[in-house]
Amino acid sequence: MLMPGLVESHAHLTFPSSIGRVFSGLDLPIEDHLLVAAYNARVLLDHGFTSAYSAGSRGQRFEVALRNEIDAGYLPGPRLRASSQETSGSVTIGLPRSHDGQHERTAAGLKRYVADMARMGVDSIKFELSGNDVDEPGGSSRVLFDEEEVAAIGQQARESDVWLACHAQAAGSIKQALRHGFRALYHCTLADDEALDMLEQARADVFVVPAPGLPYARVHEGADFGIDSATAKRMGALDSLEGMVRVCPELRKRGVRVLPGGDYGFACNPIGRNARDLQLFVELLGFSPLETLVAATRYGGELMGLRVGMVRPGYLADLLLVEGDPSSDIKVLQHRANLRAIMKGGQFHKMPDLTGQSSARFRAP
Ligand SMILES: [Zn+2]
Repeated sequence: MLMPGLVESHAHLTFPSSIGRVFSGLDLPIEDHLLVAAYNARVLLDHGFTSAYSAGSRGQRFEVALRNEIDAGYLPGPRLRASSQETSGSVTIGLPRSHDGQHERTAAGLKRYVADMARMGVDSIKFELSGNDVDEPGGSSRVLFDEEEVAAIGQQARESDVWLACHAQAAGSIKQALRHGFRALYHCTLADDEALDMLEQARADVFVVPAPGLPYARVHEGADFGIDSATAKRMGALDSLEGMVRVCPELRKRGVRVLPGGDYGFACNPIGRNARDLQLFVELLGFSPLETLVAATRYGGELMGLRVGMVRPGYLADLLLVEGDPSSDIKVLQHRANLRAIMKGGQFHKMPDLTGQSSARFRAP
């Protein structure tokens, strides 16, 4: 079957682990880290993802540099919407506090931060508007920014013409994001009725990416990585999954664009396994295989803001030739061998195999 290339809507190319290459932590010496991120870009493209919308980088300019190299044709990888690091306001995640001392936690400081990141060339700036159970018990229900701060962030993003993305689990954070122009809302696991109504009203402008891949891996596959069931629960993984199962079918019914993309790059949830999120959409979140494919291609293209995600005249030729029919079995996309050809921008990344030999231009070890 011929179909558009897949879009990973919550990508972290700087989270180091990929299939067959596990790192225990998230950070590496800076030189190693950037090279691993470049390798991960290739891994993602090898697995059929011709576009990736970043949900946060662990190096300030890593993704800007990587995006530019990929766009210029010097490195293989998906089209990348480059992100800033993730910041919770008091700390830029992945950096000691002292590394970002120039942006103080005030409305003016946050505006300066947004303007500086936009000038640096990121496509998207990521904020942790709510906390996270991994960082502190009950953190996911905690709102981390006040209204004035989020308003300042939104105002500056409009002035600097840059997109905003957020980690938003708490209902209050989802509402702040919607009031102030955030475009990509991640997780939304604690949405209440008012938040659901607001998401529905904003559906022409926003994208929700629940990211089931990571909590699923922690709950069901964590044992080999030291994550037993008590730890998975403490990390909030069980609650997150339950929240997605509650919220996502409701958003689907209301016509909100809900996209696959699942925080891949952890040891238990490595880059390259990204198409597994599509299976979770079908098996956990109540989407049909076809609805899931539309979300992972057409809606993904809309999130990228590029003419990708559909096979039609005027669109960029990002295409997959797939052995099998993912509209009846979504799992066929998880096996690299089923991706007979991968084309990006009209050029083969992987040629169709006419000789019985693998012809990937860039072959993983
Ligand atoms: Zn993430």
